[in-house]
Amino acid sequence: MNTYGRFPLELVRGRGVWVWDSNGRRYLDGVAGIAVCTLGHSSRALRHALGRQLRKLQHVSNLYRVPEQEQLAGWIRDNSCADSVFFCNSGAEANEAAIKLARKHGHVVRGIDTSSERGPLILSAQASFHGRTLAAVTATGQPKYHQGFEPMVQGFRYFPYNDIAAFEALLHKCEAAGPRVAAVLLEPLQGEGGVNPGNPAFFKRVRELCDRYNILLILDEVQVGVGRSGCLWGYQKLGIEPDAFTLAKGLGGGFPIGALCVKAKVDHLKPGEHASTFGGNPMACRAGLTVAEELSRRNLPAHAEAMGKLLQERLLDLAGRHPLVIEGVRGWGLLQGLVLRAEGPAAIDVVKAAMAEGLLLVPAGTNVVRFVPPLTIQPRHIREAVKRLERALLACQKPTPSPN
Ligand SMILES: *Cc1c(COP(=O)(O)O)cnc(C)c1O
Repeated sequence: MNTYGRFPLELVRGRGVWVWDSNGRRYLDGVAGIAVCTLGHSSRALRHALGRQLRKLQHVSNLYRVPEQEQLAGWIRDNSCADSVFFCNSGAEANEAAIKLARKHGHVVRGIDTSSERGPLILSAQASFHGRTLAAVTATGQPKYHQGFEPMVQGFRYFPYNDIAAFEALLHKCEAAGPRVAAVLLEPLQGEGGVNPGNPAFFKRVRELCDRYNILLILDEVQVGVGRSGCLWGYQKLGIEPDAFTLAKGLGGGFPIGALCVKAKVDHLKPGEHASTFGGNPMACRAGLTVAEELSRRNLPAHAEAMGKLLQERLLDLAGRHPLVIEGVRGWGLLQGLVLRAEGPAAIDVVKAAMAEGLLLVPAGTNVVRFVPPLTIQPRHIREAVKRLERALLACQKPTPSPN
């Protein structure tokens, strides 16, 4: 189906931070499948682990115990604030599970009516991104993604991200006639919506209010989680703990996997209430375990922090040389956004020009160019990426030759 506006580029091979197209041209990959290929392309550890797993056992139903799944859940439990994990196959699906959990929390813990007029509400942020399935896209606070798919799922309300006063006003309005809000769903840093880092003071206040009302605080860590932020989890950048968080993208390093991770006190779902055929299958969990092992063994979150600092420095230098085009740089670790001025080229034009220079990048909204490279990226790649980006910026700014 025609669901993607694709670039005319066919990638056929990858190694580390490099990918090759079908003409044999090499690109430095600042996209990594959009924050997916944590260990780079064709990682030796993943090739070996998945090869072994494929020869051992590919798939079994969740009717039975799956040791790889228990091990990966154990790693998440031992290294995060969560006590238990539900595995699925994507970010949207992880958020769907979180939304079901929120609804149940609203009913059983907050005693919210099940009627549609007084049913549980989930508050999410404007400019957020939570996926494309019907409830996840409803949670996504961007009207352009709703357009044409109405009616949306009931029970969602929106507020401006990082805005304490607006959040409190919405919360108090929703709670005015008794318990109504089941959960607040937020990205620690808004990725797709423009690389907007969460404000720790805002998140601290949301945490306090959620505690006061017994409202679930759910963080969507699908893009920032698993080391990319420079910490293992994005919430560590904010100095708070969520009640639940979702993972996907980088967790499998390129193998599809998603997860809903919850604290014991909100582990409300009982046998039969949620399920997935493929979720947590041995291959996906072996991929997740391998990413987890490599993250620890190579201390990749700290590496992401250091490489993010270097990238940010280099991009700030670039901004200094091109002040009419670049407004600034923002982000955490290896999730950085180059913010372009409205007068200059659009993000998509810079991305296209960068591609012509052998550098892959992805827009985040209309005016931000996003860097989400493999966490294994080295200083020489960062220097090379910024060199290529500068050539792309110059190409974008070339005045179109006048007809006379
Ligand atoms: C990509 C993304 C999703 C959706 O994940 P899919 O695997 O595409 O369904 C959800 N939330 C955030 C923050 C994302 O970046």
